Amino acid sequence: MKAVIFSEHGGPEVLRYAERPEPEMGPEEVLIRVRACALNHLDLWVRRGMPGIAIPMPHIPGSDIAGEVARVGANVVGVKAGERVLLSPGISCGQCVYCLKGNDNFCRQYTLFGYRVDGGYAEYVRSPAVNAIPIPAKLGFEEAAALPLVFLTAWHMLITRAQLKPDETVLVLGAGSGVGSAAIQIAKVAGARVIATAGSELKLQKAKELGADDVFLHTIKHWSREVKRLTERRGVDVVVEHVGEATWQESLASLAAGGRLVTCGATTGYDGRIDLRYLFSRHLSILGSYMGSKAELYSVLDLVNRGLVKPVIDTVMPLEKASDAHARLEKREQFGKIVLRVE
Ligand SMILES: [Zn+2]
Repeated sequence: MKAVIFSEHGGPEVLRYAERPEPEMGPEEVLIRVRACALNHLDLWVRRGMPGIAIPMPHIPGSDIAGEVARVGANVVGVKAGERVLLSPGISCGQCVYCLKGNDNFCRQYTLFGYRVDGGYAEYVRSPAVNAIPIPAKLGFEEAAALPLVFLTAWHMLITRAQLKPDETVLVLGAGSGVGSAAIQIAKVAGARVIATAGSELKLQKAKELGADDVFLHTIKHWSREVKRLTERRGVDVVVEHVGEATWQESLASLAAGGRLVTCGATTGYDGRIDLRYLFSRHLSILGSYMGSKAELYSVLDLVNRGLVKPVIDTVMPLEKASDAHARLEKREQFGKIVLRVE
């Protein structure tokens, strides 16, 4: 089969369009004919390499996958050949206490397609049958691929971790990112007021079209003052953080008393500091969030079926242009998801 692989860590140039053997499927697995695979920031981390994390080589990246079921394993029930499916991006053991409680993203064996196992930058990928979920009828493959990882992440951050309420105000950083564009929509469905940031006027306009009530450029200095101005000096109840070092101090300074900062990433650096006096005296909470459970993805798909949220696609490119797609994501030129089409 055709696939995009890398055999060493590095820049976008290490990605190669190559021939790979078709994956061998186990009895509990299904083989998916991939039609679309969306990029995530994780793809960049995996390609560059992370200290202490061994990625099997040659490696096929790609966590957000949609396609058709090509074949099913001998023990598989409930999934049929020919079905249009998207893949829940997280893979877990299915047997530990976390998995049984429905917190499969806490599983010690938890990984993602394209992370410690091969992903969807390919014509075929093998998947546990439990990860294959029918695509809502109104969605094409490219939209279906643009959905899972970022909407699952945003749902888990806002609804499960931050316990967002309708009378609250949320600050969403980076409206043009996948997580940002999903978080704006989910926060609006929850009834909250949304303030969003982005790096250009065009992106601010698009953030408003997605439902943001107020927007401002994150390029302005000390932007927490702008948050305070927009909230009558109060600050926001929840900050959706995924930027890290570059925004951490301003994010903390934007919180109202009792506010929650929920973070799922650190694309600009890991070193976030906090003055503990500020943390306790203002009753603040810092919440970590990583992916979400399989059940939460069903909640997201319910919102999609009801027309309340929609995937946001920036560009669709053919699979063989994966390195150009990585370069676009690395330069933060996109608004929404960059999707690879697999012919
Ligand atoms: Zn488990």
